[in-house]
Amino acid sequence: MDIAIIGAGPIGCYAGYLLAKAGHSVSIYENHGQIGTPIQCTGLLTSDFDQFSLPIESFLVNTFDRIGVYSPNHKLEIHQKEYLVCRKRFDNFFADLAKNAGAKIFVNHSFSRKEGKTIIITNSQRHQEIYLTPDLVIAADGPLSNTAKAYGFYHPQRENYFGIQATVEGNFDLHSFQTYFGEKVCPELFAWIVPESATIARVGLAMRKNSRAYFDRFMKEHNFKALEIQAGAIPVYHPCQELQKENCYLLGDAAGFVKATTLGGLVPGLKQAEILVDGLLNKKNYEKAIAPLAKKLRLHLLLRRIFDKFSDQDWDRLVSFVAQPKVQKVFERYTRDNPVPLISMALLKEPRFFYFAKHLI
Ligand SMILES: Cc1cc2nc3c(=O)[nH]c(=O)nc-3n(C[C@H](O)[C@H](O)[C@H](O)COP(=O)(O)OP(=O)(O)OC[C@H]3O[C@@H](n4cnc5c(N)ncnc54)[C@H](O)[C@@H]3O)c2cc1C
Repeated sequence: MDIAIIGAGPIGCYAGYLLAKAGHSVSIYENHGQIGTPIQCTGLLTSDFDQFSLPIESFLVNTFDRIGVYSPNHKLEIHQKEYLVCRKRFDNFFADLAKNAGAKIFVNHSFSRKEGKTIIITNSQRHQEIYLTPDLVIAADGPLSNTAKAYGFYHPQRENYFGIQATVEGNFDLHSFQTYFGEKVCPELFAWIVPESATIARVGLAMRKNSRAYFDRFMKEHNFKALEIQAGAIPVYHPCQELQKENCYLLGDAAGFVKATTLGGLVPGLKQAEILVDGLLNKKNYEKAIAPLAKKLRLHLLLRRIFDKFSDQDWDRLVSFVAQPKVQKVFERYTRDNPVPLISMALLKEPRFFYFAKHLI
């Protein structure tokens, strides 16, 4: 098959690698001049990344063994292994994988529009339009996916957060990153301090609106000065977003495959790429194959709807429930990429979690 992938982010390149390795002719079109820039990501991965059996040391910056969770009046520390990666090296690793498997990557090439079965790519350096009729188009062009819009199936009710983050200097616990919840800090998500080293950290937050005002306040309260600022859109999973139309499949952020509780999209996106490629190669029913991953994302969305109504007292109550050793053990056993056992086991250990279900009404 002749396959055009739009977007040379990690998810598009991973799909390109898997398809090229299986003998397909793969061309990846990237609108920026360089892979992996500008960086718009913290780069946190749960240990579920291990399932992909990739050499993490190629892009690893730091490894954590603890996560600090702060509600307005309580604190909790969860013991979990997490990775911090350099997104520039991470993205280039996946691009190299794809290239070495035979995929071609065209930078400065942007998806412009679609006319019938033809897609039009613009070479921004030569100001030239290229007309292509691939057998398959994979839209991996991020949260605002122009490709999904051109194919007419970008769901009109999809929402995006706006994440903003700075690199800062300070004194940090190298093996622990911190998350801060509450109405005053970041009412729609949480703020984070994620150390790259003992003296440098990535500090940020994300909101649907007003991220900058909350971010500036958080930076001021912690007395941080930004060495560098990055920002970008992050999609919220929408259960009604179709994943395929005509010969076009949506992948990664373009499909909204992001955990609505934390806005982490790397592990779900890579998993989605594997499922899509396996479905294409082995002629499997994609809807059926993707259902278990979609179920996890729906569960994250349900939690997001509950958290969106949380007061500061709710955050304090939640943190105090989780801090009980019997519950904490559950949170240390299952990562957030496994919400089904995490939530069901937590409810078994602490039925008072049902108190928060009132926010669903
Ligand atoms: C501030 C912030 C912090 C984040 N932190 C984390 C985190 O810690 N952990 C985590 O798992 N996730 C995090 N995310 C989310 C994560 O960055 C995304 O889920 C991930 O990048 C998705 O990968 P992707 O390949 O689908 O899309 P992208 O990485 O967005 O790649 C899409 C590519 O398509 C290209 N493109 C766009 N339009 C076109 C076009 N018309 N033609 C050609 N190319 C095009 C873009 O230039 C880009 O290279 C964060 C996001 C933000 C904004």
